Amino acid sequence: MLTIDGSYGEGGGQILRTTLALSAVLGRPVLVEKIRAGRRNPGLQAQHLAGVRALAEIARAEVEGATVGSISLRFAPSRIAHGEYRWEVGTAGAISLVLQTILIPLALAASPSHISITGGTHVPWSPPFPYIEQVLFPILERMGLQASLALKRWGFYPKGGGVVEGKIQPSVLQPLTLSRREPLAEIVGLSAVAGVPLHIAERQRERALSRLRPLGVPCRIELHTGEARSPGTILFLLVKCDRGRAGFSSLGEKGKTAERVADEACDQVFAYLERAGVAGPYLADQLLVPMVLAPGSSSLTTTRVTEHLLTNRWVVEQFLPGRVKVAGDVGEPGLVTVN
Ligand code: ATP
Repeated sequence: MLTIDGSYGEGGGQILRTTLALSAVLGRPVLVEKIRAGRRNPGLQAQHLAGVRALAEIARAEVEGATVGSISLRFAPSRIAHGEYRWEVGTAGAISLVLQTILIPLALAASPSHISITGGTHVPWSPPFPYIEQVLFPILERMGLQASLALKRWGFYPKGGGVVEGKIQPSVLQPLTLSRREPLAEIVGLSAVAGVPLHIAERQRERALSRLRPLGVPCRIELHTGEARSPGTILFLLVKCDRGRAGFSSLGEKGKTAERVADEACDQVFAYLERAGVAGPYLADQLLVPMVLAPGSSSLTTTRVTEHLLTNRWVVEQFLPGRVKVAGDVGEPGLVTVN
């Protein structure tokens, strides 16, 4: 049994998700110790636990230690099974992070699956739904993933209650090369509110458009108003460079002005455009698992090497030594190569 030290690097939830996804696909039992030891609330929280339970169902795994607060987990997969799956995070824990655990294993099943996940759809410290739909999925589709997702209900912090449904088809992963960024073509976005007046979304949009105008490319931001159990707002900006895409978001919260929400998202866009690299700061760590599971060599340039990326590389190294190299210092542009 492979033992993984969950306190490595920043000691967060990413170690667990990458470990479980690789364990399920490679059929290798694992013991994860010191889970999330680097966080203020160590151990499994609702979102991590939902991912563990979901993948245990898919991989028909024997599991020990799957309880809230547990700092050690034993996971022994048997085979990946397609099916009709329905999971609830139970809090506003991110649906996208549950998806990060189960998506690639399920895409490697023999037949299609339907999934429904209830939880947070636009919550802090995780990819919001538009990021999954407009940044991650288009690139995974280039890598051979055949899947579609639909946002059925919005779920903001703290009550969550959002619903994402999806169909995941048997897929054959292909290698990926993202090397040179093409010139900026346009920026499209979404300014959305739930349980908050529409003029907040309008102010987010106006501020963002006025900041982005000097870039001299077409910018379009759609307005959206919906219903959710907890009120919330988001501004999501998609930077399009021909086929390359990067996504940046900011969430509203009590005491934060609509203009600040817009500024936070725009600042990330400018930081991305100032640097070399195709993958934005979040994408590189999210693509590592499909890159190592695809045959042949893959590579990508990123605008920022993150602790998350290096930690994820270390986890992959425990399963598949010598496969991944990351060149570049933390905080600086870098190159990820997978052989
Ligand atoms: P912990 O609770 O231990 O911090 P976690 O399970 O919440 O862990 P992290 O280990 O912090 O998760 O990993 C968060 C994941 O979400 C990473 O894959 C990161 O790239 C991604 N992510 C975070 N913020 C964004 C964002 N704004 N847009 C896209 N992806 C994001």
